Amino acid sequence: MKIELRSDTFTKPTPGMLEAMFSAEVGDDVFGEDPTVNALEQKAAAIFGYEAGLFCTSGTMTNQIAINVHVRQGDEVICDELSHIYLYEGGGIMANSNASVKLLKGDKGRITAQAVQDNVAPDDIHACVSRLVSLENTMNKGGGSIYQFSEILKIKEVCRKNNMQLHLDGARIFNALVETNDDPLAYGKVFDSISICLSKGLGTPVGSVLLGNKEFIRQARRTRKRMGGGWRQAGYLAAAGIYALDHHIERLKEDHQRARHIGNILAKRPEIEEIFPVDTNIAIARLNTSVLASDYVKNLAEKGIFAVTFGKHLVRFVTHLDFKDEHLHEFEKRMTL
Ligand SMILES: *Cc1c(COP(=O)(O)O)cnc(C)c1O
Repeated sequence: MKIELRSDTFTKPTPGMLEAMFSAEVGDDVFGEDPTVNALEQKAAAIFGYEAGLFCTSGTMTNQIAINVHVRQGDEVICDELSHIYLYEGGGIMANSNASVKLLKGDKGRITAQAVQDNVAPDDIHACVSRLVSLENTMNKGGGSIYQFSEILKIKEVCRKNNMQLHLDGARIFNALVETNDDPLAYGKVFDSISICLSKGLGTPVGSVLLGNKEFIRQARRTRKRMGGGWRQAGYLAAAGIYALDHHIERLKEDHQRARHIGNILAKRPEIEEIFPVDTNIAIARLNTSVLASDYVKNLAEKGIFAVTFGKHLVRFVTHLDFKDEHLHEFEKRMTL
């Protein structure tokens, strides 16, 4: 039995999801005529109280489009140094939008309102214009850590005072919401745009949705086309997204329980120094300085357990829809041999 813990993107569509895909009604989405894409965009937008949505191929695309619409060249994006938009999107802030980045050191990837306020560029011709603050929730590189909504509200206030937009990389926002019971409508009121992933914990084969007001999404649609992201009968994929929003949100709690269990099993290992707090579906292990993460991951693979390196001595384990109790039991067995 293969124990796949590299990422929550490794899931395959469930039979119910496949059935929804097969029976989708489709049309040409570049002409705005795919009814299933339109329904997905409306449905995702409604969850957060936005006017509109834009279905895209990936979370990288939705984040990069959002940044492109929010900033002008030479502007600055403020974010945590562990942000996906900075570390894992191919330098896209610069390459796609000619914008600069100010990196803040947060707590497990979470920045504070005070740090944002302290780092807004001054109104001075020497400085760039701080135009956008981008948060990530849950925070991947922070071990799936969750923002307190009260801090987000304070960050919003700093943005308002300084005429900055606020974007959320919500690739795993539903993992946060099922844990905190925060109201998604409150998120929609605070963020100028949110990017959600359907292909992570929600288990679809492909897709992310960018959310915002009508004018923002109108501009985003133009940017998507320019990037080559206009697609045709994408409704087959959108149908999977609708199915996931209907059936796969509440069950994320199961992933979180299993991830905590994994954290507990790993914590007993002598070669592991520390487990980051397991807030959601990600467990990060810090190894003894004598053990390289790259070697450790190779050893695990020989036991049929797959994880990824997350730094020189860091290893990441992610639970998901296709990681069931039987996999957890098998994981425990192999890790206690
Ligand atoms: C996965 C992920 C994305 C988007 O990744 P794609 O592979 O481009 O879909 C964005 N942000 C975070 C935090 C992610 O984990």
